[in-house]
Amino acid sequence: MTDAGARLAGVAARLRAACARAGRPEDAAAVVAVSKFHGADAVLPALLGGHLRFAESRVQEAQAKWPELRERFPEAELHLIGTLQTNKAADAVRLFDVVQSVDRPKVAAALARAMDREGRRPRCFVQVNTGAEGQKGGIAVDEVAAFVKECRESLELPLAGLMCIPPVSADPAPHFRLLRTLAADTGLPELSMGMSADFETAVAEGSTLVRVGSAIFGPRPPAGPPDRVPPEPPGSGS
Ligand SMILES: *Cc1c(COP(=O)(O)O)cnc(C)c1O
Repeated sequence: MTDAGARLAGVAARLRAACARAGRPEDAAAVVAVSKFHGADAVLPALLGGHLRFAESRVQEAQAKWPELRERFPEAELHLIGTLQTNKAADAVRLFDVVQSVDRPKVAAALARAMDREGRRPRCFVQVNTGAEGQKGGIAVDEVAAFVKECRESLELPLAGLMCIPPVSADPAPHFRLLRTLAADTGLPELSMGMSADFETAVAEGSTLVRVGSAIFGPRPPAGPPDRVPPEPPGSGS
């Protein structure tokens, strides 16, 4: 077994154990393997080992890496977990099966338009800024209910759940608990929460999807330049 394969098996075992400790079914939470910044050569062994759920943070990087892998593994499921620029919404809708980073009204609207045009409807998660961090994307906690309603009723996005990335230095548990409450209040079944360092805590708080990168693929190689985010005109409401 490859290193990544062995580490993936270890993460899966820890996930099942965490589910059991929480009194949840052993398969109550699934692993999304975060392959960002790693090349197709790193991803391939995990696919060959039977893992099918992966996540990328950048549209351009995923476009370079995934089309060939997807041809070989048509049943693979690809998640977008990074900030989406509205001018890449159509590319994202074509390439991804799940968009976890619906983090502002403009992105929601661009995704809705792109889905209508492309005839493809990736499931969506609303990203919530549970730590009210100025530099982090996501819907403010007190705006989640209205935003979810807008996504559902006006935009008809296929909403599956909520996603959060707690502040780096904080105890993540209260953030996970808050996300769970928000999901219950808005009637959304899925909770994407938990990363390499805290996925067991997230499972104890009800996570259904953990996003695990370095615990599977090892340390990330340095990132290339980020996808350029074009400035939004002032007062445009995002
Ligand atoms: C990179 C990333 C992860 C994975 O982080 P690890 O600590 O390597 O597990 C999870 N979620 C998001 C949104 C990320 O950008």
